[in-house]
Amino acid sequence: MSAPSLPASVRVIVRDWLSANNIVLLQPGCNVLIDTGYVSRADETLQKLRDPQFLGDQPLHLIANTHCHSDHMGGNALLARIYGAPIAVPTGEASLVRNWDTRELWLDYADQRCERFEVTEELHAGAVYSWGGLRWEAIATPGHDMGALVFYCAAEGLLISGDALWENGFGIVMPHEPQALPATRSTLERLAHLNVRVVIPGHGPPFGDFAGAMERAFSRLRAFEAEPSRMARNVLKVMLTFSVLARGRLPRSTLAAYLDDIPIYREYNARYLNLSPGALAHWLVEELARAQALRISGAFLVPGDAMG
Ligand SMILES: [Zn+2]
Repeated sequence: MSAPSLPASVRVIVRDWLSANNIVLLQPGCNVLIDTGYVSRADETLQKLRDPQFLGDQPLHLIANTHCHSDHMGGNALLARIYGAPIAVPTGEASLVRNWDTRELWLDYADQRCERFEVTEELHAGAVYSWGGLRWEAIATPGHDMGALVFYCAAEGLLISGDALWENGFGIVMPHEPQALPATRSTLERLAHLNVRVVIPGHGPPFGDFAGAMERAFSRLRAFEAEPSRMARNVLKVMLTFSVLARGRLPRSTLAAYLDDIPIYREYNARYLNLSPGALAHWLVEELARAQALRISGAFLVPGDAMG
């Protein structure tokens, strides 16, 4: 299927699973960038932004985030320095960033990194923003992230969905947060009422089949509701895949010790799986290799073909 068409003022830099997509909304005197990728790819984000088909040599006037996870806000600090642009985050995330709560932001808690930055503005659910010559309504989408927002342009049927909706599913939901799963359901029900022609997701290319994506998201949600331990297993698999992507490779010999050292694996294992660190390592590698999320290369785990 051909790529869905977007207004000329809306430019999407499609990234990968380490860095979320960067969305450039062009308007004279008010160029906005939504989401900035992972910190170790911040230079790459800047280079892509400078490509004439995106920002080129124009100024950037605002950096905004759909939510404050490391793969969406990792370029904030660098880009704010380069462009002197203010940074706007959802109001529900602002205090976590101001206090640099590395547990709630899933940073050292999950072996992820981000350069600290200053929040200069807050984005509010229900507010309407004029970006790229279009009107975007900010809609609260708690679930994957309890403070997340998506941006909906009714006139053009565009939805900048962050990790609340992808073509195949949505971002991990944390089972230790009791509100997260019910919130995911209300979020999907709210999104289902929108009139969406093109979804610009946090990961993966923009797509037109909104109804199909909603169907797949609800089916994933039902699987989690039927068996909440699935969520915990999914969290650990996604986190380890991310770490292998972020580091490029992880030594196999120290994986069990690594899983015992990083809080999210240790705590989730104790609470939901109750395996020895060695057995957890074995299970994760087997599952992720089967899904081609990672690959064994000699003494190391490296990103798999499905991550390319
Ligand atoms: Zn996220």
